[in-house]
Amino acid sequence: MFFKQVPVGLMQNFCYIIGDEKSKEAVIVDAGWDVDKLIATGKEKLEIKKIILTHSHFDHIQKVDELASKTNAVVYFHEDDYNEIKRVIRNTSIKIVKLKHNDKIKVGSIKIKVMHTPGHTPGGICLLVENKLLTGDTLFVNAVGRTDRAGGDTIKLFESLQKIKKLEDNIEVYPGHDYGEIPFSTIGNEKKNNPYLKCESKEQFLNMFGLF
Ligand SMILES: [Zn+2]
Repeated sequence: MFFKQVPVGLMQNFCYIIGDEKSKEAVIVDAGWDVDKLIATGKEKLEIKKIILTHSHFDHIQKVDELASKTNAVVYFHEDDYNEIKRVIRNTSIKIVKLKHNDKIKVGSIKIKVMHTPGHTPGGICLLVENKLLTGDTLFVNAVGRTDRAGGDTIKLFESLQKIKKLEDNIEVYPGHDYGEIPFSTIGNEKKNNPYLKCESKEQFLNMFGLF
């Protein structure tokens, strides 16, 4: 599997390119910045067929119209962020697929499993591919996404994190921003070190946000 974490833009975002080297099919995760850089990464070997958006914030989606138009890729995102994302897709020939919890997206022989993890936005998703979890703005290295923007919900974020905590400790965590001391981590390390994942109760978690 081709897997690349690509730093992009002005807000420390990470995009990801995942490809099947046999079938040459690839997917780009998030499309906030640097379309040409994303297309050029792996261009020799791979063809971008799909784009998956982890959630509706502009720094993850503002270039999706351009990226999908240049690649003819199909765009996937969770149905609960539909209205916000649909607004930036102006090219009417771009195909859209609305996702739900537990959906699977195939990229050649690679299977990507969708986990609905609302809280940062209503339609936020994490993506599990082999031993890697792409966490968007739900979980960062040593932090979590904010919940004080439109559609944010701190209790839902707590519940989403409990789902993530059930994954195996050796699963690698690849966030949507480079906010930590290291660019990626593991579920085990985050359970041990991330103060938000260490919260055992909703009250404790709300306290971290100054809400209890
Ligand atoms: Zn965000």
